[in-house]
Amino acid sequence: MRSLFTRILVATTATFAVVAMAAGNSDLGETQQPTRRWYKGNTHTHTVNSDGDSTPSEVVRWYRERDYHFLVLSDHNVLTSVDGLNALYGADEQYSACPQCRPFLVIRGEEVTDAFEDKDIHINGLDVQSLVEPQGGNSVVEVMQRNVDAIRAAAGVPHINHPNFGWSITAEDLRQVRDNRLFEVFNGHPHVNNKGGGGRPGLEAMWDAILTSGVLLYGIAVDDAHVFKQPWNRGASRPGQGWIMVRARRLTATDILTAMTAGEFYASTGVSLKDYRVTEQVMEVTIDESPWSKYRTQFIGVGGRILEETTANPAVYEFIGQERYVRAKVLESNGLIAWLQPTMRNPSQ
Ligand SMILES: [Zn+2]
Ligand SMILES: [Zn+2]
Repeated sequence: MRSLFTRILVATTATFAVVAMAAGNSDLGETQQPTRRWYKGNTHTHTVNSDGDSTPSEVVRWYRERDYHFLVLSDHNVLTSVDGLNALYGADEQYSACPQCRPFLVIRGEEVTDAFEDKDIHINGLDVQSLVEPQGGNSVVEVMQRNVDAIRAAAGVPHINHPNFGWSITAEDLRQVRDNRLFEVFNGHPHVNNKGGGGRPGLEAMWDAILTSGVLLYGIAVDDAHVFKQPWNRGASRPGQGWIMVRARRLTATDILTAMTAGEFYASTGVSLKDYRVTEQVMEVTIDESPWSKYRTQFIGVGGRILEETTANPAVYEFIGQERYVRAKVLESNGLIAWLQPTMRNPSQ
């Protein structure tokens, strides 16, 4: 089964190389490595196994039918089995008879759902090998750290969810968590306050404060979808609102999570890129433009300051050598966004 899986995957991914965004040059300079491709995925989704309205099968089908390549099922304190789902919807024989069908990968996951006093602390464990019970603790930071450590002990990759849900996690809290590289800079649930307000900073401002302090954190966009059966209901946590595009060598859980941990991805609410490249001299973003839209790209540094803004495509920023970090953000004329991952320039300063 494994070799058949691999053969079909290779055949099918060769087909999408034409339509998928260009693999581009590795920003790691590993020119001898196999070609990397972009894979679209969502790492935060619920089913009827916790408080979602649809079965795991229905949820997987929703994403698979909409050009996603992978999905993490992340029920609250439940580890939903994915083996049967991958057998049914993954890359198996049906794809040889259906060249337009993409292979699809379901990655095991859990939203470890904990709290400190009235603060909700939710941390996803991606590809955890066993159920992680909420660990508790005596402060927001301690609860986060204990859960991150437990997810790592279960061989999973943590990401810290919706910091502004219940205004639970501040930038100062998040900055102190060790052994965590990922957080949600966008979550599609209607109650998560992505943009801040009422005197509280939004998630991008928190991200810049953390990066400015010298802690490297990558931003992901997720659906946190619960409601698949009310597509008309704008107040519901519906699917399809935020996702990541991961540049990986193969569509396996290990390859996807390795790439995410290395920052080889961007987060999006609708902007697509053809390429993203960082060298010693430049950061270069190539947008896959829609003919109906216009775009501008911001290059952002210490304190969230915009170092440069351009409407050129590709958008190119030349490093001056003094930046502590640089990240790019593409803004589309209808409000869609792509967030690229930061590059630390002089992290010791
Ligand atoms: Zn949550
Ligand atoms: Zn959730």
